Amino acid sequence: MTPLARLLAARIAATGPISLADYMADCLLHPEHGYYTGGQVFGAAGDFITAPEISQMFGELVGLALAQAWIDQGRPAPFCLAEPGPGRGTLMADLWRATARVPGFHAAARPLLIEASPALRQLQQQRLSGIGARWAESLAALPDQPLFLIANEFFDALPIRQFRRDGTAWREVMVGAGPNGGLALGLSAPAPLAALDARLADTPPGGVVELCPALPALVAEIAGRIAAHGGLALIVDYGDWRARGDTFQAVQAHRPCDPLAEPGRADLTAHVDFEAIARAATAAGARAGAMIPQGVWLGRLGIAERAARLDAGLSGAQQQTHRAAFRRLTDPAEMGSLFKVLALTPHDAPLPPGCDP
Ligand code: SAH
Repeated sequence: MTPLARLLAARIAATGPISLADYMADCLLHPEHGYYTGGQVFGAAGDFITAPEISQMFGELVGLALAQAWIDQGRPAPFCLAEPGPGRGTLMADLWRATARVPGFHAAARPLLIEASPALRQLQQQRLSGIGARWAESLAALPDQPLFLIANEFFDALPIRQFRRDGTAWREVMVGAGPNGGLALGLSAPAPLAALDARLADTPPGGVVELCPALPALVAEIAGRIAAHGGLALIVDYGDWRARGDTFQAVQAHRPCDPLAEPGRADLTAHVDFEAIARAATAAGARAGAMIPQGVWLGRLGIAERAARLDAGLSGAQQQTHRAAFRRLTDPAEMGSLFKVLALTPHDAPLPPGCDP
């Protein structure tokens, strides 16, 4: 049993079962035992690998897409260049390097990294010491300025609740006491839920719907700044249009595992509901573009040309790794289709690069 499992079991014994969202929040960001709190989680040696860790091309193309949108919107200065959930800081480092030759971009940029984990913040500060960035713990700290933002695999780490349909009511999936002092999943008593009325139409009896309670307010922080001051948010994550079914999952050492087995030691995520992001962004006055598969989007931004350039300078094992990375980012059988991109802009801004429907 992990230390966090003991704490959670004691809490559940004292006050009853907790929602998956409460469970996820503690597992990921508990001040002492949270998975991200410790820090050493990414990359080939960690538990999972993300697009910027797979290849420098990802951060480079994101940087050039943000810079092109910045030019298209009249080069506002100063502007906030923000990244929530920067992980090891790799994406921001690649983005910054790739935009060095865009006249005026660095001079106008005020980089802001939003990170809840102190250990990861430290890692990022070492990695990004030369770019004049600030750090904040929450998106509420976004300044009232034009905002150019990239969020890669940030929203999938936000805690979700799960509801199972029972007739015209819903039973919430809860974490409660299990055998041998451990934890087990259970269901709350059925109750009607106004927030899910619309989902009765497309959820069969016994079907599961996921809700991310923190999402609307976080999206509103981003979209509100963009609607008021201009800019672009690129949201990249795995998921789809509208949450369907159980997507809650745990990963340890690159393998799926039981999400209840070792709380605090596995990464927990759920698919992102892009419809919910678009709805929250629209309500905050911004325009949500079309949801585009990552492979298509990277293709439109010129990843094949960039990959060929890099390929020409490589040989042997490095070249094989580079080719595998290109496939991994773009191939529909790998990350190309599962991952999606959604752009948020002001209503009167040109469509950002690669984002035509
Ligand atoms: N974008 C990075 C890492 C993704 S992992 C990459 O692509 O490699 C998720 C990141 O979000 C981690 O840095 C984690 O500590 C951070 N995070 C998770 N929940 C957060 C929250 N509520 N507020 C701020 N950061 C959070």
